Amino acid sequence: MSPKVIFVTGGVLSSLGKGISAASLGALLEARGYKVRLRKFEPYLNVDPGTMSPFQHGEVYVTEDGGETDLDLGHYERFTSLNTRRSDAVSTGQIYSKVIAKERRGDYLGATIQVIPHITNEIKEHLTRDIEDDIDFLICEIGGTVGDIEGLPFLEAIRQYANDVGRENVLFMHLTLVPFIKTAQELKTKPSQHSVKELQSMGIQPDILLCRTEVPLPLEAKKKLALFCNIKLECVIEAADVDSIYSVPLAYYSEGLGAQVCQHFGLESKEPDLSVWEEIVQRVRNPQGEVRVAVVGKYTGLQDAYKSIAESFQHGGIANQLNVKVEWLNAEDLSDDDSVAKALSGVQGVLVPGGYGERGTRGKMRAIQYARENNMPFFGICLGMQLAVIEYARHVLKLEGAHTSEINPKTPHPVVELMTNWDQKGKKVKRSADMELGGTMRLGGYDCILKPGSLAHSVYGSDKIVERHRHRYEMNRTYEAQFKAAGLLITGTSPDGQLPEMIELKDHPWFLAMQFHPEFKSKPMAPHPVFTAFIKAAHHYKKD
Ligand code: GLN
Repeated sequence: MSPKVIFVTGGVLSSLGKGISAASLGALLEARGYKVRLRKFEPYLNVDPGTMSPFQHGEVYVTEDGGETDLDLGHYERFTSLNTRRSDAVSTGQIYSKVIAKERRGDYLGATIQVIPHITNEIKEHLTRDIEDDIDFLICEIGGTVGDIEGLPFLEAIRQYANDVGRENVLFMHLTLVPFIKTAQELKTKPSQHSVKELQSMGIQPDILLCRTEVPLPLEAKKKLALFCNIKLECVIEAADVDSIYSVPLAYYSEGLGAQVCQHFGLESKEPDLSVWEEIVQRVRNPQGEVRVAVVGKYTGLQDAYKSIAESFQHGGIANQLNVKVEWLNAEDLSDDDSVAKALSGVQGVLVPGGYGERGTRGKMRAIQYARENNMPFFGICLGMQLAVIEYARHVLKLEGAHTSEINPKTPHPVVELMTNWDQKGKKVKRSADMELGGTMRLGGYDCILKPGSLAHSVYGSDKIVERHRHRYEMNRTYEAQFKAAGLLITGTSPDGQLPEMIELKDHPWFLAMQFHPEFKSKPMAPHPVFTAFIKAAHHYKKD
């Protein structure tokens, strides 16, 4: 049976939180016992989101199956029980590449290739590809804003899809902004009316209008929107600003969103079990204390660049019932020991996130050294682990010029080096020509075995974990004995014991770093154990 499909479009302007709206609707449907999937269609022409700048587009989110995708898939995972897949994100660039490849192969038998029907057919085909039979709802977010040139093929394709499968099997939800004009002290519905007109001109009549607003939406404004947009009054839903994104599902529930969706599809509206969300919000709103931590990164100017880390910190706060204050420090500002000491004087823990290239690495290493020498909790992710290894090699092992071959290919001590090639089980095999070119990344979920008795083991409470990766370089094991003798231990490895996955310091209260990205697997209802433990350790940190 094909699933009921809900299309989420956005109007008026971008950054209204379409991803969170789609994800919150997913949460409401799951709370009613339905099985959902969430997908994102991106109008940009990039073929590979993995190569897009985090400065412009926010973080690259890595799925369990190794997809490098848009950060909205992170919202989908955090609001639902889902593990998203590579196939849950598709861009115009990928659609066009497929169509052009087919044309080159001669699949179209010489026909003239056009946006309609070839591109739109490819979009429709992608819509329900790789969807299990027992999925009740497929929620599809269309990126961008209605009216953008780039979005047209997607809107045309979803219009056609509704015709193909029957309008009763499809729901169009449009997220829009109802601005409050301070001087007039009035809410303005006109931008939403225009945006809906734009959709209607393309043959799409929204069924639900989700209205972002700073102030509560009075009945009069709802009536006006219903009348001008040709939408049932109960389907004009207020989406007012809230204190925490995790209260969005509850806010939508009290506006009747889930019930309206069920009604639209003629489904019995079971009462949802929202106790998990109530508990989360209760914890967010009633912290028993505060903890301050720093992230020393390169893209700190744009918070979306570290979206999953920011959210995971909130989850760590939820688990410990603490308010987590994060200071986003630009590594380039940490230019000497004084600036580091000053920047870190007010925090109780440091996280160094993943990254690529040289910029900011010195500042990050200074921060790591500070945490190491001051017994301050340290949490290193990917490049953050690699830099912890380099910092230790230089300052404790006294290996002058120790580095990663990513940044200095001629270093006398490549303590971090290009990974020798591996097979799917994480077993080392001979380096391929591709690897020599640095073309291959280790991507997605891989098993990692933890050493009993280690901090890593006690944090996870488990012998074996699966975590997501996105890297080319790794700690060089030729130096392992030296590191071990000095107190830096490898406490997590690939199942065959070959690839170093986690390190920690023997004589430090909490110093843990990992080659993978735990931030991609944290959820508010299931905070990631490393973030939970780090927040706890930071809370207990006292300066000597
Ligand atoms: N640049 C490093 C590598 O490729 C680290 C990557 C990361 O931090 N995600 O191995």
